Amino acid sequence: MKAFVKKDDCIGCGMCVDVCPEVFEIGADGFSEAVGNPDAHPDKTYEAAEICPVNAIEVEG
Ligand code: SF4
Repeated sequence: MKAFVKKDDCIGCGMCVDVCPEVFEIGADGFSEAVGNPDAHPDKTYEAAEICPVNAIEVEG
């Protein structure tokens, strides 16, 4: 399973971090990054992708 944030689309709202801080964090550039292991938190990773208001999160697997 892989999670990836499309930086060009992310608006830095932080909702993915609220839902799944184990995988997502706001980087120094103010946008989200998938830094954790999505395999350890698949349901929350999918939930974060679903709530992203600009569909910036891609999840594979
Ligand atoms: S929910 Fe979407 S727009 Fe908001 S910080 Fe996360 S990836 Fe970026």
